[in-house]
Amino acid sequence: MGLMQGLDNSVVTGRLDQAVGWARKFSLFNLPFVTACCGLEYISVQSAHYDLDRFGAAFPRFSPRQSDLLMVIGTISHKMAPVLVQVYEQMCEPKWVISFGVCTISGGFYDNYCTLMGIDRVIPVDMYIPGCPPRPEMVLDGLLKLQEKIQHSGNERTSRNLHRHFPISTDSV
Ligand code: SF4
Repeated sequence: MGLMQGLDNSVVTGRLDQAVGWARKFSLFNLPFVTACCGLEYISVQSAHYDLDRFGAAFPRFSPRQSDLLMVIGTISHKMAPVLVQVYEQMCEPKWVISFGVCTISGGFYDNYCTLMGIDRVIPVDMYIPGCPPRPEMVLDGLLKLQEKIQHSGNERTSRNLHRHFPISTDSV
């Protein structure tokens, strides 16, 4: 009430891209792509104790077409990589990706023939959250940093810099 009285007969100006960025960062619908033990930490972050709703990122959507934040959580094998790519490609722009835990960042301690050594070999990543598993506080910190990035990124996307290290075929999925 007091604020509105103070703004009587005022004109407020601002940049449209900043207003859109502000709206986008507080309306994140996340798609959890969970394959392994980091999933338990994700569940913990989603619970009432850590309250993701405070940051406008509470609602998981299990359809890529209704999501704009892909959270890749757990070890990704070469066999699973085409599925991950297909899910990512089904999401509409603008979209963002969080790499949750060291398995998604670098393969973690799995130094073997079947594990993908980092999801950024197949899809672009906007925020890396290290840890095995990451603590919920680290996840919240990563989310806040991603929101900062969304606010200031305008229409820039990391996907334009994507360079796949090897071709992925989704024909067999
Ligand atoms: S980073 Fe650690 S906790 Fe997370 S999926 Fe890999 S082994 Fe499991």
